[in-house]
Amino acid sequence: MSQTKDIPVPDIGDFDKVEVIEVLVSPGDTIAPEDSLITLESDKASMEIPSPAGGTVKEVRVQVGDKVAQGDTIVTVETADKGAAASSEAPQEPAPESTAEAATGSDEPAGTSVAGADQPAHRESAGDQQPVQASPAAPSDTDIQCQVLVLGSGPGGYTAAFRAADLGLNVVLVERYDSLGGVCLNVGCIPSKAYLHTAEIITGAERAAEHGVEFGSPTIDTDKLRGFKDGVVDKLTGGLKSMAKQRGVTVVHGDGHFVSPNSVAVESNEATQTVGFERAIIAAGSESAKIPALPWDDERVMTSTGALEVDEIPKRLLVIGGGIIGLEMACVYDALGSKVTVCELADGLMPGTDRDLVKILEKRIKSRYEAIYTQTKVTQADAQKQGIKVRFEGDKAPETDVFDRVLVSVGRAPNGHNIGADAAGVTVDERGFIAVDEFQRTNVGHIHAIGDIVGQPMLAHKATHEGKVAAEVCAGHKSAFDARTIPSVAYTDPEVAWTGLTETEAKERGIAYEKASFPWAASGRALGMGRDDGATKLLYDPETQQVLGAGIVGPHAGDLIAEATLAIEMGADVQDVGLTIHPHPTLSESVAFAAEIAEGTITDLYLPKQRKRSR
Ligand code: FAD
Repeated sequence: MSQTKDIPVPDIGDFDKVEVIEVLVSPGDTIAPEDSLITLESDKASMEIPSPAGGTVKEVRVQVGDKVAQGDTIVTVETADKGAAASSEAPQEPAPESTAEAATGSDEPAGTSVAGADQPAHRESAGDQQPVQASPAAPSDTDIQCQVLVLGSGPGGYTAAFRAADLGLNVVLVERYDSLGGVCLNVGCIPSKAYLHTAEIITGAERAAEHGVEFGSPTIDTDKLRGFKDGVVDKLTGGLKSMAKQRGVTVVHGDGHFVSPNSVAVESNEATQTVGFERAIIAAGSESAKIPALPWDDERVMTSTGALEVDEIPKRLLVIGGGIIGLEMACVYDALGSKVTVCELADGLMPGTDRDLVKILEKRIKSRYEAIYTQTKVTQADAQKQGIKVRFEGDKAPETDVFDRVLVSVGRAPNGHNIGADAAGVTVDERGFIAVDEFQRTNVGHIHAIGDIVGQPMLAHKATHEGKVAAEVCAGHKSAFDARTIPSVAYTDPEVAWTGLTETEAKERGIAYEKASFPWAASGRALGMGRDDGATKLLYDPETQQVLGAGIVGPHAGDLIAEATLAIEMGADVQDVGLTIHPHPTLSESVAFAAEIAEGTITDLYLPKQRKRSR
């Protein structure tokens, strides 16, 4: 027998009348117990109100904008008889419910902590408390139980684990390798930058000849060079191990895959352990994409991971892929003495990046590298005794050529298909990406995902930021990923960096903008460094003058881009930037000079047509 039941607003704590900001059900919908019905928002918090019963929604008694209080009817539901109701409570996808009790902090569900004093202001409404989100209980028949399981210990994963632990949650961090830190610390950002620093010293010493100081050609001890890189990596990964211990994070080493929506099996050579969790954060990252037709069993064909071993310096190196990672490694090997050829499928290097920026990099590397082939494809490669024989398809490239080593750098593939996501009901797309909302939640409400596995840009600083959001949401904080921009940097020589709107994107999307570009040839600091091959440009709104984007090319562009990123986050206009006193003589002045060009107040350049705006 079915019966109708009015579902009222439950106890929502100290609030008198609270506004309905979202109605999540419609008449005719079938709902399960704990499905959210509406979202309420007070000046302190927003909260989803779950249904205590399952059934069919007959009538929705509130609408967006209504103010409701405890006891007001939200919906009328036709419930099934007892037997049917029981079956509707059978396992279901756990939704990211909030409980009204939790909103008051009065009845904190197990496994959660009430938002505390150290909530970051930047991701949350000022002074807010987020209702603690109820999590399904971890199964009891597992080897280890935790409130938050983090799968993968890269920059996203370790950040999420540490932040969650700092917020008082009981955390297990699962990592398949012995060393924590993921791609970034072990075979990515950090080792590549250690080598790039060496490259900078070598090429800087070469350039010193132009200033009258000559050094002989460098003698390179590859073991020592690798040892330096390994030392840097060990210090950082060792630091993570200690910090995990200090924070009480349990680290379980082994290959983890979901076996249910609330447990992960972790397989290692020694044993298989199951870890039950209330919430999970997937941070399994990505790996180098491979071109299948290449002879991968020959160690002379490498991904970036192999190239970072620098076990020899090849006389002739082919880099397949003219993106950021390929060009950074090209820069390292060029400085170490290899003759470098770069082959890129698109019609220019670093596809998608503004051409005026790339042109400056291209000018420098063209003069150093053996060849750069764009619109060129490698169709075949054969391992031969004298080297790797490569067949090219493209107008400018030879039909074949032989290289001592080949570095394949054609992008990164997310690890979404290697974690048993199906068993947890988490949707993974064909390419291996997992879609998430602004709270980093997957389609399964109590399972979050962060970092490379959730999509572009695949960058460590995006992963760490997302990791903090996911951890804070797990702890019941009102956090969301709402960054206006994520800066990108190629640590090539010269470096290329951009943030916010690019000209390429503005043109594609028909966005109106104005541009102010300051050439480093007019920067005293750049000239003193012998590096006038740089430029700083700001894109800004023609009406409001608000900074929309920035692109910088030149040494340390990666450091300089942070100021423009802050300007965008803060909604600054070009006048704010231009009137900010920058230290002299620095490269950072170039950002202010670009703003002064926009303002028409620059005196370090003579621009006859500039507007004569007063300061
Ligand atoms: P990852 O760092 O990929 O970590 C994922 C972790 O999960 C790994 O440790 C992996 O072993 C583990 N894992 C995966 N599956 C499982 C499983 N089933 N069980 C247990 N553990 C699992 N980014 C920048 O921002 N700046 C740079 O300068 C930069 N330079 C780079 C240079 C190179 C050569 C490369 C390759 C990448 C570079 N990146 C850079 C990209 C950066 O490394 C990634 O964006 C970042 O590491 C992604 O972090 P993540 O936490 O998502 O995942």
